[in-house]
Amino acid sequence: MRLLAVPLLVIAVMSTQVHAASSQTPSGASKHAVALVIHGGAGVIERDALSGGDEAAIRADLDRALDAGHAVLVAGGGALDAAIAAVQVLEDSPRFNAGKGAVYSADGTHELDASLMQGFDRSAGAVAGVTTIRNPILLARAVMERSPHVLLAGAGAEAFADLHDDIARVPNSYFDTEERRRQLEIAQDRERGHALDALPTVGGTYFGTVGAVALDAQGRIAAATSTGGMTNKRWSRVGDSPLIGAGTWADERCGVSGTGWGEFFIRNAVAHDICARVAYRGDSLRDAADEVLLRRVPALGGDGGAIALDVDGNIAMPFSTSGMYRGWVNPDGTRGTAIFRGE
Ligand code: ASP
Repeated sequence: MRLLAVPLLVIAVMSTQVHAASSQTPSGASKHAVALVIHGGAGVIERDALSGGDEAAIRADLDRALDAGHAVLVAGGGALDAAIAAVQVLEDSPRFNAGKGAVYSADGTHELDASLMQGFDRSAGAVAGVTTIRNPILLARAVMERSPHVLLAGAGAEAFADLHDDIARVPNSYFDTEERRRQLEIAQDRERGHALDALPTVGGTYFGTVGAVALDAQGRIAAATSTGGMTNKRWSRVGDSPLIGAGTWADERCGVSGTGWGEFFIRNAVAHDICARVAYRGDSLRDAADEVLLRRVPALGGDGGAIALDVDGNIAMPFSTSGMYRGWVNPDGTRGTAIFRGE
């Protein structure tokens, strides 16, 4: 016990220093204009199926998330704080598949995944399969800043959360919503009569994962992603969202958060591949993101979307599904939200 205590203390001190550096107010004039891009998930989102009221409420939530993240950036805060602030708003909204409103697993419970990464020092944290964490993105941050690890899963992640009073806990039923319950029933109706190794995975089993990528006044990029995963998932299935390089990536010049059919995002290392194309091939952010989302993922049979942001403030938001909830604030301060293709 005593042997363990010393390294843990050292880790705690080091972690505190990393945190202080990541969220400090930059001194002197800003060198970089700030920018922010967010998503609330890609999937089957048809104009006809979305009522005017739902659409307005979703756009309002996206706007609130942009407000929260952008306020951090204009106050001189760090990209990581901004990305987390935006994601937390969407986790707290019942309209997205993250935090409150997460999809149901096959057994009628919710298992949540989240990850984040800070580009300038490649620090990262993630959790998978957590069941009582109100804001999984905050536990992912705690993993990054207060543990020597990157990814904690299941009961172990919950035990880690037990050590930190500031991580809000909720009963699993907190995540319940009628809409997600109905989606579970539809998915379970569809799979009746199928063998377990040939379950139909069709449109509508996912969408609503949330994410944010921010560029701060120091020119630093951070990305964050949070999800309930896929409706009717079983066997402790984990998708791309908590996996650094698949669902989330940030480096010195590029950051990405993905949403879509996670198995294909893992197999394509989607988030990392986009930024690697920018770094190694000199591709523009848009070309890199389009190649991965519109060609590589569909070529294997997958679909989905991503948001990407580079150090110059360029934003890309490609998706191969019928819609993707998204919002952005450009370096010049212009901003918008969109849901459907062609907006
Ligand atoms: N990518 C997520 C997963 O596979 C789902 C989503 O983006 O909606 O878990």
